[in-house]
Amino acid sequence: MLYKQEHHIFREAFKRFVAEHITPNVDAWEEAGEVSRDAWLAMGEYGFLLPWLPEKYGGYAADFLYSVIIMDEICHAGAVGFFAPLHSEIVAPYIMTYGSEEQKAEWLPKAASGECILAVAMSEPNAGSDLASLKCRAELDGDEWVLNGTKTFISNGGTADLTIVAAKTERGVKDSSAISLFLVPSTAPGYRVGSSFSKMGLHSQDTAEIILDECRIPAKMILGERGKGFKYLMNKLQQERIVLTIQAQAMSEKMLEMTVKYAQERKAFGQSVASMQHNAFKIAKMATEINIGRAYLDSLVFRHMKGDNIVTEVSMAKSWVAEMANRVAYDCVQLHGGYGYMEEYPICRFARDIRIFSIFGGTTEVMNLIIARSMGVI
Ligand SMILES: Cc1cc2nc3c(=O)[nH]c(=O)nc-3n(C[C@H](O)[C@H](O)[C@H](O)COP(=O)(O)OP(=O)(O)OC[C@H]3O[C@@H](n4cnc5c(N)ncnc54)[C@H](O)[C@@H]3O)c2cc1C
Repeated sequence: MLYKQEHHIFREAFKRFVAEHITPNVDAWEEAGEVSRDAWLAMGEYGFLLPWLPEKYGGYAADFLYSVIIMDEICHAGAVGFFAPLHSEIVAPYIMTYGSEEQKAEWLPKAASGECILAVAMSEPNAGSDLASLKCRAELDGDEWVLNGTKTFISNGGTADLTIVAAKTERGVKDSSAISLFLVPSTAPGYRVGSSFSKMGLHSQDTAEIILDECRIPAKMILGERGKGFKYLMNKLQQERIVLTIQAQAMSEKMLEMTVKYAQERKAFGQSVASMQHNAFKIAKMATEINIGRAYLDSLVFRHMKGDNIVTEVSMAKSWVAEMANRVAYDCVQLHGGYGYMEEYPICRFARDIRIFSIFGGTTEVMNLIIARSMGVI
């Protein structure tokens, strides 16, 4: 088994944290359209942000299973809109891997304490799946980079203190080697948060537009080497997609759990809704698929921790688990009947929130492209 005694102890401790600091606040965050700063700071104070971070930068050098536990439990609590996983497991690793010593020392301790919220801005109004076609530009002017462009659908966009921005640095170069990454603080002149999006789900997640209008940052804020941005983004996709798969998997487990409970209690025609054979089989089928998802995911987590290149397998997991979780959401709402459509029943929020998992971080179709390419059929 992957998990040891210390992981189980940690899970129990984190569950207590969630019960105290997250669950009671989710409704207020959903209403406000963002997660409070206090929650970020509390996560940081207890060591639940960037748990993998080396001690010299203020972390605990914990293995990836601790991160998995944190993601599982945030999702089980119905707080998937709290994008601590994006901050800890998707954005911060770019700084850790590609940042200069100065950048790491400046930003990683603040990210671990929750003082500095992180975001990553790749997507643009006309460049989502086809990232290489992005238009945002960065020009060197003396000892400053000047960035111009609009980034859209940026998670943590309204609250982020530091955003990794993908921009083109080379003129006349059409391919992806024109892209570089930059660390852009929200205090940089010319940096502005645009519209905050009203979305189908993830209501507590502040997804916003970021506008860079003659935005000036010091030359040293480039992340890694000039022209290597696209390569860096590709290198980190395995981690990004396994993180999204973990969240979708955890949500599917919670949806089934709450539905079984509800359907066992709810009576119709003199028996529980769960015990009607059609529904019992539906539940059995969901449980089977969810278990298959967890088994495959665990095997990938293990290989990911070993450092294997499993981009294709992770793409398979991301597409299958996200679609599976959406099927589960549909059937779980159905089993709740009209109550499943009511806000006061958590399945309602879960069903809304899960929809995006087959879209962001690469759509199911893009996952299929990667898989098909790896098989040489395209
Ligand atoms: C809530 C939310 C949060 C997000 N957070 C972030 C973030 O933090 N940072 C960030 O940079 N981006 C973020 N995104 C953007 C997200 O990653 C993109 O929306 C996603 O990659 C899809 O891009 P698109 O919306 O431009 O769709 P498009 O690329 O326009 O795709 C439209 C449709 O065409 C399909 N399609 C495209 N190409 C192909 C193909 N070759 N073959 C078959 N079908 C294809 C797609 O699968 C999709 O069904 C977020 C989006 C949302 C909605």
